[in-house]
Amino acid sequence: MNLIEEDTLSLTERDLKVIWHPYTQMLNAIIPTAIVRAEGSYLFDEEGKCYIDAISSWWVILHGHSHPYIADRVSAQIKKLDQVIFAGFTHEPAVELAEKLLGLLPQNQEKVFYTDNGSTSVEVALKMCMQYWHNQDKPKIKVMAFHNGYHGDTFGAMSVSGRSAWTAPFDAYLFEVFYIDLPTAENLPELKKQISAISDQLACFIYEPLVQGSAGMLMYGAAELDELMRHCRSEKVLMIQDEVFTGFGRTGKHFAANHLVEEPDVMCFSKGLTGGTMPLGVTTCSEEIYNAFLSKDKMKTLFHGHSFTANPLACVAASASIDLLLMEETQQHIDRICRKHAGFIQKIRKHMRVESARQTGTILAIEWRTETGTSYFDDLRNLLYDYFLNKGILMRPLGNVIYVLPPYCISDQDLDRIYGEIEGALEIY
Ligand SMILES: *Cc1c(COP(=O)(O)O)cnc(C)c1O
Repeated sequence: MNLIEEDTLSLTERDLKVIWHPYTQMLNAIIPTAIVRAEGSYLFDEEGKCYIDAISSWWVILHGHSHPYIADRVSAQIKKLDQVIFAGFTHEPAVELAEKLLGLLPQNQEKVFYTDNGSTSVEVALKMCMQYWHNQDKPKIKVMAFHNGYHGDTFGAMSVSGRSAWTAPFDAYLFEVFYIDLPTAENLPELKKQISAISDQLACFIYEPLVQGSAGMLMYGAAELDELMRHCRSEKVLMIQDEVFTGFGRTGKHFAANHLVEEPDVMCFSKGLTGGTMPLGVTTCSEEIYNAFLSKDKMKTLFHGHSFTANPLACVAASASIDLLLMEETQQHIDRICRKHAGFIQKIRKHMRVESARQTGTILAIEWRTETGTSYFDDLRNLLYDYFLNKGILMRPLGNVIYVLPPYCISDQDLDRIYGEIEGALEIY
């Protein structure tokens, strides 16, 4: 590489020479937008153009970008303790965060296991459930999941996700999963029958509660999920509730779990965990799961860990983010976004180009009516992406489904601007 040349090139041009972006076909990739600064719900590019971050930067930002309270806590922490091995050692940020988090989760959640992203939190959850049975010499080795689910990009997480264009090159390497449909009042008796038929082999059931994010913001009811969970409990099928996306206020309550009566055995968190500022993953579990690993036999240990397990900076960021989440002001913001979304849905649901307009808490999704039906690879996706970016709004449609899930600090004016541009797009596309 010619280093002298670097001075004369823009950030974007330098990027294209050295970087391979995620989920991007680099042959005809759109030129990446170089962001130099972010504040609240805004992103600013190289030329000073401002974008409203309508998707919380891939579903992670909670309280707005570069929040001063989180920044101060992380800054103080890095000067005090940056990183330490987490096997045989511990530190205040990890313990404090575990205490805070467990205090907000369903009663049965007792222990916290740290990793560094959503996919690895899922890997650990699967290992906990699989080894739970292994440690007791009970041969239950199958996993159940919903069709179209998404649980991450590592191999275990990919295996339990729905088979799709994303997993196709690897399908031969993925372990077998028993898939069921999302529950409805009508199909529940049938789903229960399917589960009972193989429950003696089912180690666990993993699911995204209430909203299947990557599938296109598909939503289903808490009452139906509760009934499914009750059945799994009675059939001794362990439950992994993947709240990587739904956690920390997105559904209008702290967690999707707060909409449910039943309690899962294991839970996964990431994304909004640190307010979107740092990579961190958490897997929590019940006492019963934890106890199945306590043994004089070393082979019953959970052999899993990452170099950056429980990184103190990430733990402090998460702890600070939870402080902010619990503030009265934040809860009012969340309620306000829920009400605004509901009002907008009423306004556009009858529009001839709207196939479906749906909402779970702060998550709003609008499905465009297209000739070809719903697909992630719909051409409309690129048209809509460009349309909104030109208008100064970051949206990232899932095929013909656009969604708005803003940082909680977003103003009413900015929400109205986003809604207005959606209405504009509905007239054009
Ligand atoms: C994004 C996501 C994951 C994966 O998290 P990463 O941090 O991207 O690995 C897992 N589960 C759900 C429900 C997600 O939305």
